[in-house]
Parts: sequence; structure tokens; C-alpha cells
Amino acid sequence: MSERRKTVTAWVGNVPVGSDHPIVVQSMTNTDTANAEATAIQVAQLARAGSEIVRVTVNNKAAAAAIPQVVQRLADVGIQVPIVGDFHYNGHILLREFPETARLLAKYRINPGNVGAGGQHDKNFATMIEVAREFDKPVRIGVNWGSLDQQVLARMMDENARAAAPRGGTDVMIDAMIVSALDSARFAEELGLAHDKILISAKVSSAPELWSVYRKLAAQCDYPLHLGLTEAGMGMKGMVASAAALAPLLQEGIGDTIRVSLTPEPGASRKLEVEVAQQILQSMGLRQFLPQVTSCPGCGRTTSSFFQELAQNIQNYIRDQMPVWKAQYPGVEEMQVAVMGCIVNGPGESKHANIGISLPGTGEDPRAPVYQDGQLLTTLKGPRIAQDFQELLEAYVQRRYGQGESVTR
Ligand code: SF4
Repeated sequence: MSERRKTVTAWVGNVPVGSDHPIVVQSMTNTDTANAEATAIQVAQLARAGSEIVRVTVNNKAAAAAIPQVVQRLADVGIQVPIVGDFHYNGHILLREFPETARLLAKYRINPGNVGAGGQHDKNFATMIEVAREFDKPVRIGVNWGSLDQQVLARMMDENARAAAPRGGTDVMIDAMIVSALDSARFAEELGLAHDKILISAKVSSAPELWSVYRKLAAQCDYPLHLGLTEAGMGMKGMVASAAALAPLLQEGIGDTIRVSLTPEPGASRKLEVEVAQQILQSMGLRQFLPQVTSCPGCGRTTSSFFQELAQNIQNYIRDQMPVWKAQYPGVEEMQVAVMGCIVNGPGESKHANIGISLPGTGEDPRAPVYQDGQLLTTLKGPRIAQDFQELLEAYVQRRYGQGESVTR
């Protein structure tokens, strides 16, 4: 793993973002922000799932007017997560007309492709930076290839067309994104915004292009980078595409905050994007959020579904317990649990875990040895194997991570 690329630290509310700090997980709501109740409920869900920053769209006056209510409702239930306002087209108007909203938001996202054309562009951008300075807020210069600044793109396409050896359109577009982001950041600083009040993103929807954009951006500035694949898609495709896109950059030390832009299945919880972001960081060993459950894929040696059910139940149990465990048992997120399907790899993998169970495969003696800290703890059998293992897991957590007591490995 490469060292993190050195950046300044930008504070988003009470969350530091930059190379001296853990990579931050963030998310975005999909409620109508004007509906303060629905928005506050979803922000709370995302925050409870582990989102450390939550962005909401502020697309019109009703949305801008609702922000103080959203923040108040969250405070009423004890949630302090920084709320970021996502502005396009009219941010300069809304931030001026709703100063309380400007004060309560922890960061403003500005898309330089959507702040107005011609002479209005710089004027509107300057107004937003002025508000940011007034309320001492950071901004994210968030370029997106779906809404790239057309003036910058047209100018660079013209220059490229006149070049002796013109480059491909995609290469020019990638450079135009970087120019748009870095010129906007420079302009913000010329307007008086502090260097450490700026974060940058430049999102595209294909992994190889994302690598190109971010490697170039990373080499040209020390602003913290917000990393994400835009429009990652739905379900498995979105999760795999996001992991494939983000992992190489994170491995190179590029990226200070991440968002996984999943399209939720109809009616599904929004918090999946938070869980996926956490899992990407955890799988790479960059952060620990919750205990890892190692389970084998199963094969012809384990033909009943009992093993799959136990692996899933233990995973769900751990996720459900985490809000309580995190508060009571510091370090529990480092725990490794193994749920294995048969004797081939079961005992070995279970011994490597903090606590693990090796279930009997087809035709094996119907016993399930449980290993704790590398030693055989007990052998379970009969119809209560699942409950007994869950109880052993809970007892292990209490003993190992409970205050003042420890189990040495
Ligand atoms: S541990 Fe056993 S059941 Fe699981 S994949 Fe390996 S051989 Fe198959």
C-alpha cells in the first residue's frame, strides 16, 4: 500500500478531511430536501449506518428554507453529522437569500459547469465564494463530466484541433475537467478563500478514465480529493464498478473522502451506499468499521443451506449489534469471525480468526468445533448450534473488548 498523497486538511464541520486523517465515508440523500421530515429521517439513517458527512440537494427556495428544520430535527435526535449543500445553477441566489442555511451547512458543493454562462459564470461563482468566506465554510469544487464547463471544453477542443498531432476527444475532456477544477480552485483563492477550505472532485462513470483524471489531479495539487465514480449504477454492477474504480486509486494513496453513487433498487434503503463504501475501505485494510466475517463459498462438501444461513445470520447479528458494541467495546471493529462449511479449511481458518466455527460437511461427524484465539474452545452439536455460537460470540466480545478486561491472543 502506498503512502497517502500529502494534502492539507479541510474541516467539514467537525470532520477533518485530508491525508493526516482517516478516509472519510460520505453519502447523499435522495429525498426532496423541502420535505424536512423525510430528509432528516434519511440523513439520520445514513449517519447511523456510518456516513460521516451527508450531502443534500439544495435545488430551490423550498429546499434552502428547509435546511434549518432538517438540522434542528437531527439535533433533536442527537445526530450531529455535517450536512453539505449541493448547489447547481442558483446556488449564488439561494446562499444569499437564506443566510441561516448558509450558516448551518458544513460545506457547499459548487459545480463550475453549472454556475452560469458567459459573464455570469465568474460573478455567480464569486458570490458563492464570498458567502463561504463570510461563514467560514469549505467548498468542494465538484466537476462532473456530465456537466463539464462548456466554455473550458470548447476552448480546449479548439486548441486541440489546431495542434500538429491532435489527441483523442476523451483525453481532451479529461484535461478539461482538471483545468476546470484547478482554475476554479485558483479563482476561489484569488477571491480570498483559504487554501485549506477547498476540496476537489472530478467524477466520471468509467473506471479507467477515473484513474486518469485522479492521477493527474493528484499530481497537480494538494487539495483533499473527494473520490467517487459518478452514476455507478444499480445493485451488483454499481458495487463492483465502484470497488474496481476506487481501489487502485486508494491503493496509490489517492482519495481523502469517498462516496459510492449507487442507484438504489426501488424501495431499498439508501444506506447500502454507506455500507459499500465502508466495505471497500475495510477490505483494503484502510479502515475498520465492523468485525469481518470470513466464510467460505461452500461447495459440494456442504450441501445443506445451514452453513449459508449461519454465515448470514452472524453477519446480520454483528451489524445489528455494532451501534451498542461500538460504544461499549472499543476495538471490537477489529475482530475477525470465521464461519466455515467443512473440515477442509474450516479448522484452519477458524484458528486464524478471533472466534470461528467449522461446521460439519456432508457425511462428516455432525459436530462443529469452535475455536477462540487459535485454541479449540468447545464442540457444538445438535439443533442449537446457531444459537450457541451466537452466544459464544457475544461472550467473547464482552470478555475481550469489555473495559478493563482482555483476552490475549
Ligand atoms: S471449507 Fe469445505 S465447504 Fe467450504 S469451500 Fe472449502 S471444501 Fe467447500
